[in-house]
This record gives sequence, structure tokens and C-alpha cells, in this order.
Amino acid sequence: MTQLPKIELHLHLEGAAPPAFIRGLAKEKSIDIGGIFDADGHYKYKDFWDFLKVYEAATSTLQSPEDYHRLTLAVLEESAASGVVYSETFLSPDFCGNRDVGAWKEYLHAMQEAADQAERQMGITLRGIITCIRHFGPEKARETALCAAETAGSFITGFGIAGDEKILAPKDFLWSFDCAREAGLRLTAHAGEWGGPESVRAALHDLNVERIGHGVRAIEDLALVDELAERGTVLEVCPGSNIALGLYKDWRAHPIAELDRRGVKVTVSTDDPPFFHTTMAREYDRLADALEWDKGQFLKIAQTSLDAAFCDADTKDRIRKTLEAAHA
Ligand SMILES: [Zn+2]
Repeated sequence: MTQLPKIELHLHLEGAAPPAFIRGLAKEKSIDIGGIFDADGHYKYKDFWDFLKVYEAATSTLQSPEDYHRLTLAVLEESAASGVVYSETFLSPDFCGNRDVGAWKEYLHAMQEAADQAERQMGITLRGIITCIRHFGPEKARETALCAAETAGSFITGFGIAGDEKILAPKDFLWSFDCAREAGLRLTAHAGEWGGPESVRAALHDLNVERIGHGVRAIEDLALVDELAERGTVLEVCPGSNIALGLYKDWRAHPIAELDRRGVKVTVSTDDPPFFHTTMAREYDRLADALEWDKGQFLKIAQTSLDAAFCDADTKDRIRKTLEAAHA
């Protein structure tokens, strides 16, 4: 399935950093991040909370716009190798200049330059969704939202929230989401991964988002599943991530197929791929093996993803032609 053109809607830029890239950066800067890799050079962690620590240690090597230029290129290279033609990636002003608008613009400029280069060289299109981090609290989220509002446009197309779903509630971030909406940004929120159906409901009703990051635990409440189907809410499903973190025991136990059967719009993404030993090509392969999904099903997934993408109509038309040509 590597050859099929893929649309990815849920990818954290720092979480997609190839381990070898982070090791190289740490070495150049003499930063000690020992202990976060296993003998094979992959990221190593015990559980979700340990994963967050390893993630933070890896991210600590990324310190300048130039580092983010290189990171963006390295990540897009991996995605393009998996057949991804369009990627919406979560960008965090928290890690890029500590939410200072001036510094953020410099980081953003560097990432955009890398994206332009990748588009020319590899034919992959990148758009950014700015995310605030739930466990950093509403005050910092406001600063993040202001960075987002200040740079909203053809490249920065959305706003969202990631981080520890067990801390605070979506409504605590209402100001930030309203600010982003008023700036013309489209909205998504992580929910229904570590939190149950009530977490998805809160994101839907309190923040009025059009997409939910993960959202898979909606399956525990069929009335909510019906509501998602009726509203046309799109779930950014990351099956490999859910299985790696122990939410479901294997690919067959994952609810993506049942959500799809019940009329919910599902898409497929990798979240933080090297942390979960996955790629977009691997996600497609595992889904084909476990659920017997064929090319037709993957075309449906890609079309749903493209419809739900936050980019402008011209970009969508261009990507749609690539999809149609591959499936002709
Ligand atoms: Zn995520």
C-alpha cells in the first residue's frame, strides 16, 4: 500500500522526528538525552507518562528556527516515502520561541521554507494546525491562540488542543478557540483517547470543533456515535498509536471499522510515528491485513480526509487530481 497516495490529518511535528535526526542534533549540541533510545536506536518508553517524558527530552534538542527547518524536511521526507501527498501537521508555539509572537514568526518562516522545498522536491504539501497544550493551562493557551490568530492564512489553517486529556476541561479553553475561530481558523481537539465519551461530548459541545483528534472511545456510547455521524464530525483516527499505547490489544480489536460502519467519518493518521514504530504505509498495510480493507476503502478514507482538510479549495482540487489519477 506504499504506493497509494495518502492524506494525513493528525501528525505532531516534534513527535514525528526521526530518532537518528534527534541523536544527530543532540550530538552536535552536546546535549545529554541518554536513555531515551533502545539498543536498535528506536525511542524507548514504558507507558504514556514515560512517553511524554521521552518526547520532552527529544524535543529539548530542537532550539532554533534552523533546527525546525531541518526537522520539517526530515519529517516530510519520511511522510513522502510512505506515499503521503498532503499532510496537516500540529505546530506548537510552546516549543517554538515560548509563545512569543515575534519568535514564533521566525520559526514559522523556517518551517514554511522547508515545506516549499519539500513540495518542489518531493511533491508533498504541508499545512499547519497550531495546537495549545492542555496540561500547560488556559493562560498559555491564550498566548498560543494569539500566535495562531497573528499567523492565520494559507499555510496556518487550523487550531487545536493536544496534551493530557485528564487535566482541565475543553470549556477552560473557550477563549482560545473563539479567538482562533474569529481569525478564520478551522478547529479540532484531541478527545476520546484517554478520556471516554464524555470527553468527546465536551469537545463537541463546548468548543464546537469540526474534527476530533482520536475520538475512538466514542464507541463506548452508541448515542454519541449516532450524533457524530449526524453532525458529520470527522475523527482523526490513529490506530497504530492507540495500539502502541495499549488502548486496544490489537488491530482487530480497534473500533475504526465499526465507527465507519455506523456512518462516522473516519480518517487514518500516525500521530507520533517513530514513537509508535509506524508509518502511513504501515498503517495502511496493517488495516489491509486485519480488516481486509481494499483499495476502494482506502480511496474512501483519502476522500473523507481531503474533504475534511483545512486547506483552501485550489489546494484541494490539486490533491484530488493526484488521488483520482492513482485510483483510475
Ligand atoms: Zn495527537
